[in-house]
Amino acid sequence: MNIGVVAHDGMKPTIIGWVKSNEAKFRQCQIFATGTTGKLLSEHCSQLSIHKLQSGPLGGDQQLGAMISEGRLSALIFFIDPLSPHPHDVDIKALIRLATLYDVPHACNSSTANLIANAIDQLPKPKKEPSININ
Ligand code: PGA
Repeated sequence: MNIGVVAHDGMKPTIIGWVKSNEAKFRQCQIFATGTTGKLLSEHCSQLSIHKLQSGPLGGDQQLGAMISEGRLSALIFFIDPLSPHPHDVDIKALIRLATLYDVPHACNSSTANLIANAIDQLPKPKKEPSININ
């Protein structure tokens, strides 16, 4: 099972703490994280299988969006910093849009991420087609 993980700079301590506290649940997963998030997670969660993509502002969010459109991501944990502006805001919106379009479970805060982590064995198989009729 592939799980996407992203955290904006102001949320990096939060994502590290959250992933560490859920480390046992993620041992069965491959984590695909944007560059800096992935680097930090690799340093703090050595038991996990973490694949580092490009840094978010350099295309990492788009790489995760491509994985969603190819049916390769089972869930997305995206800790957005709601109090800071982001130069790659369009990429962030595009990633959330694709997760919504393909009906991929996605969480932007700890409470919702906990629900996903607690149901990790029940995550639906990712879809290769949009979940809504676009005609
Ligand atoms: P980063 O990217 O993990 O490379 O910092 C996150 C983001 O800002 O999208």
